[in-house]
Amino acid sequence: MEFIYPEGKKGALTFSFDDNQDFDKKLIEIFNKYGVRGTFNINSGTLGIKDDQSGDHNYFVSPDELNEVYKGHEIAVHGVHHKFIANLTDSMIVNEFLEDRKALEKITGKLVTGCAYAYGCHNEHIMNILSHLGIKYSRGVDSTYGFFPPQDFLDWNPTCHQADPRATELAESFLNCPGYIELPILYIWGHSFEFGRSGDWSGIEKLVSMLAGKDFIWYATNMEICDYIKATRSLEFTADGTKAYNPTLIEVFYKKDNGFSSIKPGELKTL
Ligand SMILES: [Zn+2]
Repeated sequence: MEFIYPEGKKGALTFSFDDNQDFDKKLIEIFNKYGVRGTFNINSGTLGIKDDQSGDHNYFVSPDELNEVYKGHEIAVHGVHHKFIANLTDSMIVNEFLEDRKALEKITGKLVTGCAYAYGCHNEHIMNILSHLGIKYSRGVDSTYGFFPPQDFLDWNPTCHQADPRATELAESFLNCPGYIELPILYIWGHSFEFGRSGDWSGIEKLVSMLAGKDFIWYATNMEICDYIKATRSLEFTADGTKAYNPTLIEVFYKKDNGFSSIKPGELKTL
């Protein structure tokens, strides 16, 4: 059995941008123009701050505009104060993530259970803490330069940074992704201030436009991909492998003959 994405899509594209600066508004305009989707990792402690002292235009999205700005995309945890957590005590680490979760859930009225590690800082111990805080996935910053889904979603590293010299080449190879990779993901991360401060948005718009509008790509948030892949991993099989049961609430798709078939939530399907 070989899984594919919803409605037979061949690959998933997702973006992840951090730090909730107000340049996110322009980035989301570009995302929405081309119909791509992403996850925005928010430090709730900086929401609404306007700091121009360093000349860097450190303006952050305000709490009352959060839902409108990120509509159609995912809001995720990034630590209340963007601390480097490796040197913190366990209780400080808990506060950094849990208080961010609480603040974002209060503003959005939704579950916020995705995360990106500030500075990518994580290890087994930190991943274990996050799993106890109800965080379902968390992103690091080490480029994999590949398309394989993570084994452990709390140790999810991206394909590459948006400014990586190999980004365009990777996007091209993703569009021609080899069939031996099951559930491939092109995962690109960055910060909107990387374009906002220079005012040059042409690079990201070019990258997004070359990946947009493909009927074989699933344009999804990090959480949608995490939930879907976890559902594929949750199927239960009869001992002889001829039937599969889907105990989740997500319809799971797989390749069949020259097309695809699916197993609906609660269905026991003969393969
Ligand atoms: Zn950050």
